[in-house]
Amino acid sequence: MTQEDLWPRVEALLGRVERPARYIDREWGAVHKPEAGYRAVFVYPDTYEVGQPNQAIAILYDRLNAVADVAAERAYVPWLDMAALMRENGVPLFSLESCKPVCESDLLGITLPHELSYTNVLEALDLTGIPFRSADRDVSHPLVVGGGPCVYNPEPVAPFFDAILIGEGEDAILEIVAVHREAKNAGVSRTEILTRLAEIPGVYVPSLYTETRDGSGAFKGIEPLGNAPAQITKRVVGDLESVAPPVRGVVPFVDVIHDRFSVEILRGCTRGCRFCQAGMVYRPVRERSADTVVREVMSGLACSGYDEASLTSLSTTDHSQIEEILRRLHRRLEGTGVSVSLPSLRVDAFGVEMAHLVSGGGKKSGLTFAPEAGTQRLRDVINKNVTEEDLLGSVERAFAAGWRRVKLYFMIGLPTETDADVQGIGELVTRTFAVARAATPPSARGSIRVAVSVSTFVPKTQTPFQWEAQIPLDEVRRRQAILRDSMPRKGIDLHWHDAQESFLEGVMARGGREIADVIESAWRGGAKFDAWTEQFRLQRWADAFECCGVDPSAIANRQRTEDEPLPWDHISAGVSRKYLLSERARALGTVTTPDCSFGSCTGCDVCGDLGVEVVLGGERRG
Ligand code: SF4
Repeated sequence: MTQEDLWPRVEALLGRVERPARYIDREWGAVHKPEAGYRAVFVYPDTYEVGQPNQAIAILYDRLNAVADVAAERAYVPWLDMAALMRENGVPLFSLESCKPVCESDLLGITLPHELSYTNVLEALDLTGIPFRSADRDVSHPLVVGGGPCVYNPEPVAPFFDAILIGEGEDAILEIVAVHREAKNAGVSRTEILTRLAEIPGVYVPSLYTETRDGSGAFKGIEPLGNAPAQITKRVVGDLESVAPPVRGVVPFVDVIHDRFSVEILRGCTRGCRFCQAGMVYRPVRERSADTVVREVMSGLACSGYDEASLTSLSTTDHSQIEEILRRLHRRLEGTGVSVSLPSLRVDAFGVEMAHLVSGGGKKSGLTFAPEAGTQRLRDVINKNVTEEDLLGSVERAFAAGWRRVKLYFMIGLPTETDADVQGIGELVTRTFAVARAATPPSARGSIRVAVSVSTFVPKTQTPFQWEAQIPLDEVRRRQAILRDSMPRKGIDLHWHDAQESFLEGVMARGGREIADVIESAWRGGAKFDAWTEQFRLQRWADAFECCGVDPSAIANRQRTEDEPLPWDHISAGVSRKYLLSERARALGTVTTPDCSFGSCTGCDVCGDLGVEVVLGGERRG
């Protein structure tokens, strides 16, 4: 195998593209192992600046590079200008570390961060020259492995992957590489390699499964062929303390999103919001201890030179030792100019208290809260467990303490939503503004800003709302008009997510294998970088659906019956179907369910099913 060094040919293109630093190597923290006998390349299906901060890739990169004779490298999807030049000049997709063709690696790992990234998976594969479909590949091609948040319904992209890892990758990636390497060295057939991979817990090999349909063509299920397991259950790391976060991380040359040193302080969230896929699939809660977090932050900052550390998780202020962590970091970092950021805040007094600790009483950039719904009834339906008093009390404290900006996240189209609920968003925003104004000295009132961000509910798999219908596009627009008329303009910045993108996300989230043809057809029609609003064109997708004979609204806008088979039934996140159904019933009955990490088990079954448990460093403050 010739591993051609493409650098001279890449370098010749760099003067003709925007941001050439997206394509060059030698960032601080990058690992080079040119002599390694096995090379894995992780591809993030977006540009360097979007993909570089991805924590999952950083973890897998770190884990694999720690293995003798194995090299892990990175590649990103080139922006339109660079991709055009690469095609014109016959330059294939290359990895940053060795600047060698990705198609000559042993394993190509592609993360699936969200549904709108799917055409970029094909863009990456096309630039490598690897056939799109697993069925068209042979042993000369790298093993194409998927992973990431979208794997909980892998069917729309299943034919593009040789294997898909369901769940957390820290240990599983080592097992996949070991099995693949041994099988390759033994010279076994590709079919045998795939069969061996399917024996690894959590690894889904789509080619070993087939769809079954009834006489009328209606979907009946996904069945294993041969000895593949009937159900693939997610991998989970029981003890986060046993896996250290990446030591150094790669420090980029160019501005990237979330450009700071990050430490994942806990995994999972058991608040139980019924629309939230992350809350269901990353269960149970597992905290890193305060000692570990403080030590990792201090050593990471020292290695990287960053002046900001982010404590990441789905719900950082829920960490049982967050107060201690912030106080200790505050003491250690005082006077250094280094700041600490918390990506998510609780909508209560404790959240504001923690924000105050982070800002140290100094510059207050703005707080973000997510009440999600405008009325208490609907917040109870979605199990948000937040009251209007919580929100208004927090805003009052924050503005009295010097904050002048707050951002509020809401959703429209949630199950059981009425026009009164939509108007309720405007009313809640109006009251929030009034409270903020009253808590602000008259001389500063002109600088008050309430930013309102409204997305459209997309029913996600493995949640209690996976059976619900998504509201159609014209209904989204009608409710957006109600929303706009429901709140004053002065001091309020209202922004909503593109309804067409949410519609496509809904189709991809719950579609079956037939969607793979649509994705390929849309890519051939020019669709790529669909998550970039300026690149997104619904017409390309409408053409692709028509060409493939797929009705997208039958997927996105149709309510499922509880007994019908679903395309993702063979994938398990550990949370039982019984629990999802009971949570759905409680939602429709407006009954809330408490967070098990603050009290007793509420019966989602993940701990028993996966042999793990909630791991807390101390007692949580509810
Ligand atoms: S099984 Fe019980 S304790 Fe474990 S995450 Fe689910 S609700 Fe919480």
